[in-house]
Amino acid sequence: MAGYEGTTRLPCAVCYDDPVLNGDLQLLALGTGEMKIFSATNMEAQAKLNRLARSNVINWPTDFNPMDLKIPDRFALLLDLRVLSWGPEYEFFYKCSDCDKKTIGLRPFVDDRTIFTLRDLEKDVLGTDDARYPFITELPNGKVVEWGLLSGSDDQAIRKYGEQSLRRLKPQQRTQEGDPEYSYRTARRIISLDQDSEVSLDEKVEFVESLRGMDELTLRSAFEDVRAGYRLIVDGLPCEHCGWLNGPMRLPISDRFFRPRPV
Ligand SMILES: [Zn+2]
Repeated sequence: MAGYEGTTRLPCAVCYDDPVLNGDLQLLALGTGEMKIFSATNMEAQAKLNRLARSNVINWPTDFNPMDLKIPDRFALLLDLRVLSWGPEYEFFYKCSDCDKKTIGLRPFVDDRTIFTLRDLEKDVLGTDDARYPFITELPNGKVVEWGLLSGSDDQAIRKYGEQSLRRLKPQQRTQEGDPEYSYRTARRIISLDQDSEVSLDEKVEFVESLRGMDELTLRSAFEDVRAGYRLIVDGLPCEHCGWLNGPMRLPISDRFFRPRPV
């Protein structure tokens, strides 16, 4: 099976108690069976990833639900499987910020020079700078908040909560209430308040909604300071029409990400 197997380490490995997830995961290249899954239009992206984790991570711990992977890990695993299976070249269109014309990006070579491949994406691994997990932030008001990263299960619960909240509101209320997911999303990240881990989800939402000024900003900044997983930013892509080197832009996820053409 040479060339069809590889290993990877999850960027948020420190978040799990499972020794397999803390160490090297053994990957198996995707094949025709998985392409069938990717082309299935009646299957959710979440379900697709759950299937792949179990079928293409050879040492996947059977009692660990792939939905409980932290969100940066979910994408990192997909990207690593993609690169192992079909190589790092990736094709998409981008618009030049100078002349506004489109270029096909990430063709492996421009003027005989490799401009970018998926291997060039920077990957941040949690815990390499001695950061401990879960994180602890003390707010200016003295409250101590212990918090973590969201998983696929959290994400699903947040969307469900948002949909249910909207359904409860009359149409004219919907535009006045703001985003119902906003406080709930933050609340789901909270593990304990002042070392009390028995605090309920409702109390966490109440706590989040009571935050003001610098307390709110301190917590939000702490969340934003965490870097984990692939940075989906590409920089310096040349325009094929005017030669302008485009500044940093978000990597577009095109249909070629999982259905690459031969290069
Ligand atoms: Zn241009």
